Amino acid sequence: MLIRRLNIRWRLTLWFGAAMIVLLVGRSFWIYFMMERHMIMTTDADLDSNLDSLEVEIGRISAADELERVLTNYANNNRGLRFDVATSNNDTLFRSPETPPPVTNKFRSAAAPKLERTYSTNLSETGEQRRAVIGAIASPVGNLTVRASRSMQAERNEAQNFIVTLLATLPPVALAALGVGYLVSARALSPVDKMISAANDITANRLEKRIDVPDTGDELSRLAKTLNEMIDRLYKSFEEMRRFTADAAHDLRTPVTALRTEIEVSLMADHTVEEFRSSMQTALDEAINLSRLTEQLLDLSREDDGTHPGLLETLRLDQIVGSVLEDLQTVARQKQITVDTQQMRPWTVTGDQVRLRRVVMNLFDNAVQYTPAGGRVWIEGQATPEQTTLVIADNGPGIPADDLPHIFDRFRRVDWARNRQSGGTGLGLAICKSIVEAHGGQIRAESTLGKGTRVIVTLPTAKAIA
Ligand code: ATP
Ligand code: MG
Repeated sequence: MLIRRLNIRWRLTLWFGAAMIVLLVGRSFWIYFMMERHMIMTTDADLDSNLDSLEVEIGRISAADELERVLTNYANNNRGLRFDVATSNNDTLFRSPETPPPVTNKFRSAAAPKLERTYSTNLSETGEQRRAVIGAIASPVGNLTVRASRSMQAERNEAQNFIVTLLATLPPVALAALGVGYLVSARALSPVDKMISAANDITANRLEKRIDVPDTGDELSRLAKTLNEMIDRLYKSFEEMRRFTADAAHDLRTPVTALRTEIEVSLMADHTVEEFRSSMQTALDEAINLSRLTEQLLDLSREDDGTHPGLLETLRLDQIVGSVLEDLQTVARQKQITVDTQQMRPWTVTGDQVRLRRVVMNLFDNAVQYTPAGGRVWIEGQATPEQTTLVIADNGPGIPADDLPHIFDRFRRVDWARNRQSGGTGLGLAICKSIVEAHGGQIRAESTLGKGTRVIVTLPTAKAIA
């Protein structure tokens, strides 16, 4: 439909105009109808008073032969009125000039002994609208039936002229209504126009701009607010993405540069086998770093995508912890770190075995890696029917309060860890967070500088135990 393709302003205008026209036409016909009712009421009252007067006039006569004279006189004085008078036997006693004889035997049917009057609207032989009444009157010469009628044509013409005038003024009034509708909708929609041009100004590169929120508290100001909130979120995620890319590029560059330098140096001069072997070892270490980093980036982007397999398995979290411990036992032992797992119980959760194992692995890896030799790492946990909590704690150096809120961010590392030779990539906890949240759980850390760190993972408990 055409109206669907018009813009809102024109649609509102047309709806407004159409509604005005319907109202105006309706109102014109209503006025006409009321005028007609009024016309009939006044005509009926006039006929009634004529009938009453006739009754009075006839009541005055003393002999039947006076009737003709009295009625002729009355007819002469009331030119517009046509009437005839008949006896109850339907013998016409008098008919005023121009009064046609009754078409049907109306006198008989109407001239009941009761004195009720019957009214009707008829078309005369000349096509004129007439209002008629038939009534009985008592007279000295017996009960008489009077039929009287009076033209309504003049009033009707007046009413018709009135409605024609009303309808004739309709086009200009409708045009005015359209104009008013256009102005009103233009005014109402002007904030939307402003919003559109403000939104057009906002691009991926200029996300810091915002739409002006009109201070009205109405739908439009709510819309502007909602849009701004949406732009805020977009801005944040764009910023995050930008930082992530920059960090990733930076962290990729370091091992690649190191690798390249190492290979260039070893190709440049003659080296002993020992020197060559040592160069290759360094190159291999960098290559391992590089592949670890790219794997982590891949993991993260898979988590971001949500393109991991379904989370349908019911798993024993304690068994995952046990198997990770086995793997890391050697490293812990080398660092002389005691690993305590007393409180392990059958903890069941629903999820993806491989990814949950990665979470436990990363957390253990951190605890062992950042706790100095001779330290202690331990597991706590508890399960309610709703949720299972796993705590991996250590008595290592702890994390400064300033850094604590950020350690789950990508590429975030506490300064001293950043400076360490064997420093990680800073993606481990970010990956843990993505995985735990994808499982409907939460991860957080508590830490006291110099005393140790606790990382707490909560996951929904599995409904059925495998
Ligand atoms: P990756 O795990 O990717 O190899 P990473 O260990 O540096 O690198 P995360 O595991 O994300 O990165 O940890 C972020 C930072 O949080 C670490 O660099 C470290 O500074 C701090 N951190 C994490 N766990 C501990 C812990 N148990 N004790 C002290 N500091 C920790
Ligand atoms: Mg780590």
